[in-house]
Amino acid sequence: MHNTKKLREIYCQMGIRREVLDYCQRIEEGLRPRFAVMDQTAEYNQMKVIKAMQDNRVSDIHFAATTGYGYNDLGRDTLEEVYASLFHTEAALVRPNLISGTHALHVALSANLRPGDELLSPVGKPYDTLEEVIGIRESAGSLKEYGVTYRQVDLLPDGGFDYEGIRAAIRPQTRLVTIQRSKGYMTRPTLSVAQIGELIAFVKRINPDIICMVDNCYGEFVEPIEPTDLGADMIVGSLIKNPGGGLAPIGGYIAGKKERVDRASYRLSAPGLGKEVGASLGLNTAFYQGLFLAPTVVASALKGAIFAASVYEGLGFSVTPSAGEDRHDIIQAITFGDPKGVIAFCQGIQAAAPVDSFVTPEPWDMPGYDAPVIMAAGAFVQGSSIELSADGPIKPPYTVFFQGGLTWYHAKLGVMMSLEKLMASGLLEENLKEL
Ligand SMILES: *Cc1c(COP(=O)(O)O)cnc(C)c1O
Repeated sequence: MHNTKKLREIYCQMGIRREVLDYCQRIEEGLRPRFAVMDQTAEYNQMKVIKAMQDNRVSDIHFAATTGYGYNDLGRDTLEEVYASLFHTEAALVRPNLISGTHALHVALSANLRPGDELLSPVGKPYDTLEEVIGIRESAGSLKEYGVTYRQVDLLPDGGFDYEGIRAAIRPQTRLVTIQRSKGYMTRPTLSVAQIGELIAFVKRINPDIICMVDNCYGEFVEPIEPTDLGADMIVGSLIKNPGGGLAPIGGYIAGKKERVDRASYRLSAPGLGKEVGASLGLNTAFYQGLFLAPTVVASALKGAIFAASVYEGLGFSVTPSAGEDRHDIIQAITFGDPKGVIAFCQGIQAAAPVDSFVTPEPWDMPGYDAPVIMAAGAFVQGSSIELSADGPIKPPYTVFFQGGLTWYHAKLGVMMSLEKLMASGLLEENLKEL
């Protein structure tokens, strides 16, 4: 490449030493074939998004803001049609007042469950924040308080579904099955869409009336298909993760069968009002444009994840998923076995950020956590985890979770900077020879 020298110069100015750059360039070279596959998925998903926008005749009139009740918000209503087309569902609810993934999941669950119903998770313990939504941990306003019971069947030790256990757990009152696609911040494997499809088919064979909901957080656009292509009645996610493309400043979505989505809308606003109200306050442009960018943003984040896995596996650290594994979400876990590793890694990610690069994250006690937590996020949108970010609890086995990256180059810089910080804290002494 004719500008290799310039590239080296600027990386040097950014504080990346030659050995780190050379090692990382070699890793990147080796990943080219996999990057090509990711680019192809992004290309396919990009066409899906453009087609959904064209089919729904998206126009600049849809970028206008509404206020107050938000009646006849054409932009909002059309955006929901676009999501429904994209995910091949009857309907969708895409709103700034679904304030997070947890909120969207809470709305979807509480709208579609009634006292006496049972909720079943056939894939083990759900995401932390859902423990209080469900009432696994006592909490005011939980589903449990409203008389909704909960059962859980764990995955088998090899990560597979415990079909016998699931069959035994399905009872007449089982009304809704919740399937979390991403491992989130646990060590179980992330499920592929195909696996989710098999699980849904199994549940529906036992009782076709059971509602199958998928927590789709971190999974959107990683594959060419989504769980609604394989029988999910509802998928739910956050717009400050994958489908917001980094541009949505807030929001969540629920897409699926019309009855499910309508019920969610009555829960979100009020019975009788549903989808008809809810001003978009000028956020529509960011939602459309973010969705438009999402397939390539997700590909960048995926490249960053396999790059981090390869870089750290190459240095002898344990990484989940392993460097060579197929990807079904954008999260990468790296285990350092030493608190200094988690801290240095997060400080490297922070130092590589376009925003707040000059601050140094430190571990801190946080509500809801049993150990201090360190978080790196130099993000344009607070808490956005489609932007390059990393966090980890300061407790054994000292694992850091890394995700996001609006561009692949930024993710690459973040990983290289993390190596610099690890070196500075003396943690790579032995691995250095391999560099
Ligand atoms: C992030 C996430 C959630 C919750 O989303 P928030 O926006 O943080 O409330 C739920 N489930 C999974 C799998 C997630 O990754």
